[in-house]
Amino acid sequence: MNAVTTLPLDVESLRRDFPILQAVLHGDQPLVYLDNAATTQRPRQVIDAISDVYETKYANVHRGIHWLSDQSTDLYEEARQKVRHFIGAVHREEVIFTHGTTESINLVARSLGDGGFGGQGGSLRATAGGFRAGDEILLTEMEHHSNIVPWQQLAARSGAVIRWLPITDDGQLKLDELPALLNERTRIVAVAAVSNVLGTINPVAELIAAAHAVGAKVLVDAAQSVPHQPLDVVKLGADFVAFSGHKMLGPTGVGVLYGRRELLEAMPPFLGGGSMIRRVTRDGFEPSDLPAKFEAGTPPIVSAIGLGAAIDYLDRIGLPAIHEHEQRLTEYAHKLLADFPGLRFLGPEPKHKAGIVSFVIDGIHAHDVAQLLDRSGVAVRAGHHCTMPLHKRLGINASTRASFYFYNTLAEVETLAQGLHEARDVFRRQKK
Ligand code: PLP
Repeated sequence: MNAVTTLPLDVESLRRDFPILQAVLHGDQPLVYLDNAATTQRPRQVIDAISDVYETKYANVHRGIHWLSDQSTDLYEEARQKVRHFIGAVHREEVIFTHGTTESINLVARSLGDGGFGGQGGSLRATAGGFRAGDEILLTEMEHHSNIVPWQQLAARSGAVIRWLPITDDGQLKLDELPALLNERTRIVAVAAVSNVLGTINPVAELIAAAHAVGAKVLVDAAQSVPHQPLDVVKLGADFVAFSGHKMLGPTGVGVLYGRRELLEAMPPFLGGGSMIRRVTRDGFEPSDLPAKFEAGTPPIVSAIGLGAAIDYLDRIGLPAIHEHEQRLTEYAHKLLADFPGLRFLGPEPKHKAGIVSFVIDGIHAHDVAQLLDRSGVAVRAGHHCTMPLHKRLGINASTRASFYFYNTLAEVETLAQGLHEARDVFRRQKK
């Protein structure tokens, strides 16, 4: 066996933790789940943790002066500590629970972008100054719509201008163009750590250093990175990091915004309502301290606790092994499909990529590819993957994406390749 056909993890034993991975589709096709960049599956340990809260410890948090509320508050705050530890944050106040990456980015675009007031009534206190006309926001051509639209909305409100860091034809950032795009007007650089289509692992530390040199803040969209490879927010020097629980074995409806404490302290609240206030009068309100200031209303209690259980599970395996495993699968997919007639990979060579393999095939629409693969039990995604500007840059309307997690096997990559050959045969027969 060569390097590409050995794996660092005992996948078969891990797979037994995932009830859904035992599914058989269309009568006799074992499920081959390769849509992990959209959302991952959950192990029994996470499902059990969620059921356990509902069965024995569920109440609203931080409010009730009763035993059950104390229990669920403890679990909720424990989950925050697990997240803090997982990403290397120093303070628990720096971990804000949101409903996902999308909300985390909107929070920053609204709160930092609009600036405003954080104080009460007559003594309203000016906090972070908002963006003004002529300020600049730097995005890259490979961003997800979640890391584009909130900035476009901010630009429309403020008159700020969006600049784009271009990519090469093989899907890597053109870093040599960075100096010309960064200047003293740049207020924020918002960049994906890993592209959800190209799989490119971006040199985020380098971007952060360059952005900080001109006084700009950096938001890292880590939706495709935190679940798969180690990320230490302090070592990285990031100002904000956003990610989602459902892409890392956790439940839907919970995400995280990490923000440096002094920045979050200076920023006004995003949503107003219960829990985020210390006091409300007819004249105004006084916001709570962090993290409550950014957690208005009843938070995603059980989802956050489920995310904590997911982090326990990931910690037991270890992110370095997960990353290595996924890279082997990516290499294997590239190897098996290298000579596939008319297939073009999107993104760079496997060594610069995470476990995401997107491609187009001449003469077969991405949706047809995905539908034909489904006949073999293979779940992949097709379309623009919420990256229309990227697809336009690549000169295509849609692509097919296979995305891996640590529970995928080499045999599943072979089933993908086999399914693609069968799909091509179907198309050839139809054309005759
Ligand atoms: N950013 C990237 C890179 C993503 O891949 C995704 C989801 O696919 C998001 C943001 C949005 O995540 P969510 O839908 O969980 O808010």
